[in-house]
Amino acid sequence: MRVVPPRVSRASQASPEWRKHVSGTAQRQLRIVIVGAGLSGIMAAIKLQKQGYHDVVLYEKADRLGGTWRDNSYPGVACDIPSHFYSYSFAPNPDWSRQYSPGAEILAYVERVAAEHGADRCIRFSEEVTHCTFSDGRWLLTTSRERNDVADVLIVATGVTHHLNLPKLAGLSSFEGACFHSARWDHDVAVDGRRVGVVGTGSSAVQIVSALVDRVAKLALFQRTAQWIMPQDNAVFSAEDKQTFRSDPAVMTKMRAGIARRFIERFSDAVVDRGSAQLQVIEDTCRNNLETQVHDPALRERLRPSYRVACKRLVISPDFYQAIQKPSAQLVTDPIERVEPTGVRTRDGELHELDVLVLATGFRTDRFMRPMQVVGPAGRVLDEVWSSRPSAYLTLAVPGFPNLFMLNGPNGPVGNFPLIEVAELQMSYIAQLIDLLRDGVCRALSPSQSASAAFENARVQAAQNTVWTTGCASWYLDDRGVPATWPWTIAQFYAALAKPDLSAYELV
Ligand SMILES: Cc1cc2nc3c(=O)[nH]c(=O)nc-3n(C[C@H](O)[C@H](O)[C@H](O)COP(=O)(O)OP(=O)(O)OC[C@H]3O[C@@H](n4cnc5c(N)ncnc54)[C@H](O)[C@@H]3O)c2cc1C
Repeated sequence: MRVVPPRVSRASQASPEWRKHVSGTAQRQLRIVIVGAGLSGIMAAIKLQKQGYHDVVLYEKADRLGGTWRDNSYPGVACDIPSHFYSYSFAPNPDWSRQYSPGAEILAYVERVAAEHGADRCIRFSEEVTHCTFSDGRWLLTTSRERNDVADVLIVATGVTHHLNLPKLAGLSSFEGACFHSARWDHDVAVDGRRVGVVGTGSSAVQIVSALVDRVAKLALFQRTAQWIMPQDNAVFSAEDKQTFRSDPAVMTKMRAGIARRFIERFSDAVVDRGSAQLQVIEDTCRNNLETQVHDPALRERLRPSYRVACKRLVISPDFYQAIQKPSAQLVTDPIERVEPTGVRTRDGELHELDVLVLATGFRTDRFMRPMQVVGPAGRVLDEVWSSRPSAYLTLAVPGFPNLFMLNGPNGPVGNFPLIEVAELQMSYIAQLIDLLRDGVCRALSPSQSASAAFENARVQAAQNTVWTTGCASWYLDDRGVPATWPWTIAQFYAALAKPDLSAYELV
């Protein structure tokens, strides 16, 4: 039997019924604080302002907005969702250079949209929110600048790819060359004509290898786990295309809808049904890519994963297989024994001499808003609630933490679904709850324990049908081996977040 997520029950929706009880009541002036000025936080600020909320402050720990796209400037960085879908629904961009645009363009896009909508004016830069405590119906905040602030509503948009995952490699600190994480690329370090090592085989590593292979003297890719690679056609948009987009923005809207529909049907719905025909098509495409693009049978076998396609986040690349077959590239599959002053020694005893070592080892995706200390009513500490694993009702709120909402919080849709779209859906839902606070329906609200537990049980059960449980190690899996993701279709995500079911909430 297919388990469906909690659905909107018509009877319990925030219907106009409640309005008659509060008609004539003055609207409450809400102060809303957003934490994090990445794509999600900026979008939240814009939507709130459009909805008539003007006391909105956004704290950003860095000195520039953009989050992921500010932090990741490595060679080859790009999105792997078509740019016209990986854009805000309300801000189509006629100037994307390619189907999958480079990171610098995405950063410029979010900065431009923030400026055009005035969202940049509400940002307090270089100010990390360190503590949030709920007291007397409001959140009291403390920042790294020792500022105290208050918020009626707290929206946490601190990202999933923010905290670096650094590998525990013996001897790493003894390396005498340059060493950095892919999300902290050191542009003062020359790579041209030098010997570069890359640890990791995820999306960032694959993009770096393709971008550097023709520039360096040697590129050693240290592979622990092989990846399935989905081929990609990264077409360039011509000046004529861009002119068409500019003169008729409806073309972009239509194109976005088309990409979304195809993406959902062919990809997002496939990964949540491990027996689906669409998943088989993806498998065949990736297998065919490996068989036809890698010519040396021995190398092909070393690049062949031992698990099902899309069990780990699928890597999408137009040219990785070509890059790894170039004379300057070396695929190293022997495990790393230790790092030494002059390079990396593998278990077979070989020393791979290097000038630069790049750690493309991903992120601690289970950290979310932490290390921020969040203390709810009665001294309930979020870090303790999440000590085994982070969880959330419908991906965006936690029982016992009133008026606190998350964008791209725990268990959201993954499987290469654009997180901008996820955050927009979440924000539309959250905005409806905030309206209830403004209109005096209640002063505080949070999901009930029972609704949250029912949601979590259904989620864990449904996860068994997804491709993520077919036998691979991945960052999707929690400490129990349960994928920390939305296990239903995207249509069910849209349905569940269309309108809050107030019977799932405790209203005070
Ligand atoms: C290289 C790379 C490529 C990616 N490509 C894609 C893609 O193609 N498609 C896709 O859907 N997703 C992709 N992602 C995932 C990406 O994380 C999201 O798409 C999106 O950028 C997340 O935006 P965000 O605003 O939610 O989080 P972030 O971009 O992580 O922004 C969070 C912000 O919060 C700030 N912050 C954190 N804690 C605090 C605090 N306590 N106080 C103040 N500020 C704080 C951070 O400094 C940061 O600016 C990619 C990720 C990476 C690393």
